[in-house]
Amino acid sequence: MYYSENRDQAGEYLRLTLGIISKYNLPADPTCYSVWYEYIAGNNAPLKKAIDHTIENSKPINVATIKRFHQAYIADKNRSITEKLLKEVKEILTDISRYVITTKGDLAGHGERLETLAKELDSAEDIETISSAVDHMIQEAKDLVQSGKHLQGRMTSSSEELASLRSKLEQSRQEAKTDALTGLLNRRGFEKKLHAAMAAAKAASKPFSIIMIDLDHFKRINDNFGHLVGDSILKAFAAILKQQIKGKDTPARFGGEEFIIMLPDTQLEQARAVAENIRVLLATREWKHKESGRAMGKITISLGISQYRPPESDKTLIHRADKALYAAKQGGRNRVITEKQLG
Ligand code: GH3
Ligand code: MG
Ligand code: MG
Repeated sequence: MYYSENRDQAGEYLRLTLGIISKYNLPADPTCYSVWYEYIAGNNAPLKKAIDHTIENSKPINVATIKRFHQAYIADKNRSITEKLLKEVKEILTDISRYVITTKGDLAGHGERLETLAKELDSAEDIETISSAVDHMIQEAKDLVQSGKHLQGRMTSSSEELASLRSKLEQSRQEAKTDALTGLLNRRGFEKKLHAAMAAAKAASKPFSIIMIDLDHFKRINDNFGHLVGDSILKAFAAILKQQIKGKDTPARFGGEEFIIMLPDTQLEQARAVAENIRVLLATREWKHKESGRAMGKITISLGISQYRPPESDKTLIHRADKALYAAKQGGRNRVITEKQLG
């Protein structure tokens, strides 16, 4: 998270970020800023690992290294979010400063300091200036709220605006990993979660399985009833998965009409039971076209299952489930095949 729930903490992150940028004699540009902010906020584990590794091995940290980290660990989307967010923060703070100046009479010492800050902000273009102003501003806001002056209400609403910026940011992070049609995790979100779950299973020596699901003859549904009906079936199927898959198990839309489920703490045969339940549920359900009332018949699924073999990669684990799924299709569809049944 770029901003924690706590305003003081956000201020502290800003201060530490600028400290590191200055320590390594780096420019306070958006790239350096977002890399170090993510590092300090501690929510980007791969980035943190890469930087710590560089520091531990006394490798140089310069603009080129930072650019590389940025490229590798912070998506373009995130960068534009950071820039946009900083612009909005600047607008809010400029706004607060203007307000403080107009009510200067009430605020004695605070007014003058804030007036200087507002001037700085008016001409501020680089992140260093903005961030140090943010830092001061947070301090001023704290002082002001404590002294209970008229500004308190304004400060409260400004901190609400900042909180809403934080939640907007969180929302766009969520959107990046959610499938818009079904509301399930998308492939990207799933793979992120899968990495963490596999690492946890390995560390705890627990079994871990995945189920790949593909809707049978889905092209026919589209051909017979149209793509929109196809979409609503994918949505309905996702709802069934959500209902059936509970607790620590996680379903996701892997792409198109393919879905995947991760099952921590689950052996292959237990996963088969879960898969079989879903298969039977689908195979016994009759679908009806809502608008025309026309019967659509049954929609079946094929499922392939594999169990994690540490220290293999997610790729090979998924590949085996995929092979099992392919065998289920070859075997006539509407069936569950585990990797054990593969030749
Ligand atoms: P099989 O049993 O071998 O899986 O047959 P299939 O027809 O399901 O497989 P195929 O891979 O030939 O076709 C998949 C179809 O799924 C074609 C594609 O248009 C449809 N599809 C993929 N994503 C979506 C989607 O988001 N919405 C809709 N309506 N259809 C989709
Ligand atoms: Mg398919
Ligand atoms: Mg299919």
